[in-house]
Amino acid sequence: MSQAYKEGRKSLLETEAKTVCIDYGIPVTKFALARNEAEAVECAGRIGYPVVLKIVSPAIIHKSDVGGVVVGVKDAKGVRDVYRQILKNVRNHDAKARITGILVQEMAPSSTEVIVGAIKDPQFGPAIMFGLGGIFVEVLKDVTFRIAPITEDEACEMISEVKAYPLLEGYRNTPPADTKAIANILLNTSRLVTDHLEIKELDLNPILVYKNGAKTVDARIILE
Ligand code: ADP
Ligand code: MG
Repeated sequence: MSQAYKEGRKSLLETEAKTVCIDYGIPVTKFALARNEAEAVECAGRIGYPVVLKIVSPAIIHKSDVGGVVVGVKDAKGVRDVYRQILKNVRNHDAKARITGILVQEMAPSSTEVIVGAIKDPQFGPAIMFGLGGIFVEVLKDVTFRIAPITEDEACEMISEVKAYPLLEGYRNTPPADTKAIANILLNTSRLVTDHLEIKELDLNPILVYKNGAKTVDARIILE
């Protein structure tokens, strides 16, 4: 966060936001920042295929809107092709955007998606948000809030009180989601934003939840 302030940035890069998450015990996909194609291939080999490639640029907040995210890259040739393609997409969108590099990350298997967020209320301080991903948040606004810091009981209540909760209990071929892992993320997010009141907004979107564990695939942090 101090690096962002030093550079006059209000929003953390995904690498920076995920490093903060790791510091607070929030699980994220393995990642490495590549500065050129050869480095990207080397990172992908270390992480293991398939990988996801993403643009890292202080000028780009919504990466997929500019063709800055490609999932399911299967081999070294794919990494090289996608690396070039992402730079081209971003340049087409904003020819002058400063580009930090390309983030290579572990591809998390698809599963139920949830969102954990935090916003700072001028009166009550940071509040924690929870909901299921995609249409549940965007269309149905099926989310719940608590003022931070939250207790373990509150974290569990948040999870069970959204309307989409039955989806987390398992249905048809989908096993029950690890709600304990989600509760831990809620508690750790609460700790993070309570320790860092300079955070104006935090968004872990999406978090993929499994039978055992969960993984944050995208993290955004905006500073005051
Ligand atoms: P944006 O800045 O557009 O929100 P994201 O990092 O969220 O970019 O990527 C867009 C989408 O790509 C995510 O919502 C998710 O569905 C998918 N995705 C991103 N990273 C991964 C990953 N590591 N594993 C699996 N899917 C991913
Ligand atoms: Mg996202």
